[in-house]
Amino acid sequence: MGHSIWAPSAAERNMACAGSVMLSVGQPDRSSVASAAGTVQHRIGEYGLRNDGDIDFYLGTNEFADGFEIPITDKEIAVARLYIDYVKKRHAELGGDLFIEQKLHAKEIHKECYGSGDAVIVAPHTIDVIDLKTGRMAVEIEDNKQLKIYALGALEMFGTEDVATITTTIVQPTTFHKDGAVRSVTYDTVGLVEWGFDVLRPAILASFADDPEFSEGHWCKWCPAKSICPLKTKEVNYEVIGH
Ligand code: SF4
Repeated sequence: MGHSIWAPSAAERNMACAGSVMLSVGQPDRSSVASAAGTVQHRIGEYGLRNDGDIDFYLGTNEFADGFEIPITDKEIAVARLYIDYVKKRHAELGGDLFIEQKLHAKEIHKECYGSGDAVIVAPHTIDVIDLKTGRMAVEIEDNKQLKIYALGALEMFGTEDVATITTTIVQPTTFHKDGAVRSVTYDTVGLVEWGFDVLRPAILASFADDPEFSEGHWCKWCPAKSICPLKTKEVNYEVIGH
């Protein structure tokens, strides 16, 4: 299973601008040193979770990601360590099963509704979906659509009628947030599933309509289709004619 066309990581934009989804297909990705460092920090975190927290040997080595060579400094180790420690603490508190880099597929919502959860804890009465973020822009956990989609996938794959709540957590040690580096929101499963069918599913279907709508806003900032977007092109033409 490769990447979804309707990537949950772009859910905010996909839901705001239906036209962006298919227009983004085939556009070049935007790898950078920062995104490559994030990939490496995830890799170290994953290794640590699978190997009893043993990551110190990475220090001073170099890792490769997306064509970049990333030196492993104290920062990479500290980011991965905080993530590993949080996941292990939650697993010890909740019990149950820990899944690492787990594919989460909410196929009852839509077949393209899937992604990869960094860490998922399936406990007897609840599920935790934990995501490591490594960017410098603080990511909000409130109504975080990417994690709500992962939560729906986790619920569909692992949920039982005993699971009444599901908690989504962002671990982001790389920037300041007033609520700290670890931020969580808990949803009741009934409300989350209602959101999935009543809000998310229609938004996904709108993306695959023959003539999807385009809508501009702050979500345009990281849109891979910006250079070919009909709304942006119109703006440029207007500016050129206006001069
Ligand atoms: S640039 Fe903005 S309006 Fe254009 S496709 Fe992307 S998100 Fe939609």
